[in-house]
Amino acid sequence: MDYKVDLRDIKFQVFEWLDTAKLLEREQFADWDAENVEMVIDEALKIAQEQLAVCNEDGDRVGAQFKDGVVTMPESFHSAYKTVAENGWIGLLASPEYGGMGLPEIVGTVVNEFFSGANVALSLTLMLTRGAGAMIEFFGDEKSKNLFLEKLYSGEWGGTMCLTEPQAGSDVGASRTKAVKQDDGSYLITGEKIFITSGDQNITDNVVHLVLARTPGAPVGTKGLSLFIVPKVWVNDDGSLGDSNDVVTSNIEEKMGIHGSPTCALVFGGQEKCRGILLGEELQGMKLMFHMMNAARIEVGLQGASIAGATHQQALAYARERLQSRSYKELKNPEAPQVPIIEHPDVRRMLLTSKGYVEAMRALLMQTSYYHDLYLTSEGDEAKHYKQFVEVLTPICKAWCSEWGLQTSHTCLQVYGGYGFTKEYPAEQYMRDVEISTIYEGTNGIQALDFVARKLPMAGGAPIKELLGMAEKTFNKAKSDPELMEPAWLLAGGLKQIETISKELMKRPDGIQLLLINAQPMLDMVGTCLGAHFLLDQAMLAKTKLAAILGEAGVGVEDKKAYKAFLLDNAEAAFYHNKVQTAIHFCYRALPTVPAKAAAIRSGEKAALYAVL
Ligand SMILES: Cc1cc2nc3c(=O)[nH]c(=O)nc-3n(C[C@H](O)[C@H](O)[C@H](O)COP(=O)(O)OP(=O)(O)OC[C@H]3O[C@@H](n4cnc5c(N)ncnc54)[C@H](O)[C@@H]3O)c2cc1C
Repeated sequence: MDYKVDLRDIKFQVFEWLDTAKLLEREQFADWDAENVEMVIDEALKIAQEQLAVCNEDGDRVGAQFKDGVVTMPESFHSAYKTVAENGWIGLLASPEYGGMGLPEIVGTVVNEFFSGANVALSLTLMLTRGAGAMIEFFGDEKSKNLFLEKLYSGEWGGTMCLTEPQAGSDVGASRTKAVKQDDGSYLITGEKIFITSGDQNITDNVVHLVLARTPGAPVGTKGLSLFIVPKVWVNDDGSLGDSNDVVTSNIEEKMGIHGSPTCALVFGGQEKCRGILLGEELQGMKLMFHMMNAARIEVGLQGASIAGATHQQALAYARERLQSRSYKELKNPEAPQVPIIEHPDVRRMLLTSKGYVEAMRALLMQTSYYHDLYLTSEGDEAKHYKQFVEVLTPICKAWCSEWGLQTSHTCLQVYGGYGFTKEYPAEQYMRDVEISTIYEGTNGIQALDFVARKLPMAGGAPIKELLGMAEKTFNKAKSDPELMEPAWLLAGGLKQIETISKELMKRPDGIQLLLINAQPMLDMVGTCLGAHFLLDQAMLAKTKLAAILGEAGVGVEDKKAYKAFLLDNAEAAFYHNKVQTAIHFCYRALPTVPAKAAAIRSGEKAALYAVL
């Protein structure tokens, strides 16, 4: 399977739309400038295409296996993983002190788009290893940092996050895994975790689990949880590998997709010999784990967006090749030849709608990463300000991008007709692989509840107000452009609906019930308006750039024939032209769902609570 991505759009968003060059002027990124960041991006794409994509289909067909207590990853994954690890890609964002590259999050977002789009099953192992490393880098003591960080960032050891138990899925506070402090300061861990991604594999020499567990007498719920580093093989004080640490894989799941990724049930301390090292302080586990979960939530949203981006590019290529039916301009001519399906208006609609969602999701994720970088490189109130933006945007990144990643992948599969349903083309694997992004890292239902219950009212509602205020500014700018005026008014209408529906719900006696029933549509309304705001903002920039190219070439848009011929001949002009058309299309197609959803919420309809289910 090859991997295709719209690199031009990525570079536009990173270097033209967002001021990444300015971000790189910050002290923390002193080693980097726009030129070498661009080289990193090009190199990452090469690795994604040459290493990860080529084993994506094989990973799906062979799958991770479990036999005689041993988990094996598809053979073809081994060399791809090693190449990625040896070239330092796991430590992309990590501190150079521990072997990392110290790049900003926004670059990580680009690289992860490539890696997840090329092979999401294998990139999960990379993501969790990077995540476990970041947790130890932020919260570990010097000893833990020295023992684990270089091994994780170099990919010699893998990492996991272990929250879920049979009775504790969304309800993490119901976890029962126990941790009892021993005389030597370590903790005896006993319990069972399920659904653990890369919980075991045969690529790395060791697996470093981050395990949530409950100490004796700890309060019930999430407040009673502490976090532990639990290596599969104990690590001696000199860094060498010691004895097996009594972590046993009892099974792996048979799944709908991501077959190459082992999803493991783990038994800790079946022989009462499993030792853990406390990370941070006792009872701080959930607070710390949120650090990893929030990063993972953005990455899972990115998985949705990246798979949608890849499947869109594949569908586009297929539509240019596949001949079927006469052109709509030749309907009365039975002798007319079949044309590539990309000429049929309905196929073009599917492709442009998909393109719009892919670019809107990318923009949301890029913008959130950019705020994250500003937060990490600021201090005091400024840091707090950007942190709040990231916190509000995190559930939207996760839920909106995974939901629309799934829907977009479906639309792209439809472009293929019957061939989309076969294994001859990659669309069916992408469809099966993208589904999980709506479920893990907290289901999209749980994300929506987090959004309406915690993130909307956060800091008295100031961060969401400010974020939507920026969308309002985009409307004010775009409304004076005759081409963008109507789409801009659709955005204004959507923003008004969000504002009024929130106020109305607060005043209603059944407001809480309505909020709980409608959390998902409310998150979607905000995600859609933000997507439209970003695309309109990008369209205005694209118009300026296009005007400059046309001016230089002496081409006017009034002469439609000459303009069209120019676009066919000039890829840059065509790119900017398409940015404008994509934004217009997205606004007309996506924004009308906002008032429709608001009307359903406003009606106060609660049949879901009254129905006998
Ligand atoms: C392939 C895969 C990989 C995974 N990897 C990991 C991993 O590496 N580490 C890890 O710890 N976990 C992992 N998980 C677990 C995953 O995070 C959970 O499956 C997920 O959080 C949902 O938990 P659950 O499956 O128990 O569903 P449940 O919690 O039983 O939820 C079932 C349904 O009820 C809804 N629901 C539950 N509570 C509420 C509520 N209060 N209000 C409204 N709706 C509610 C949910 O939204 C969902 O629709 C993985 C799962 C899978 C399938």
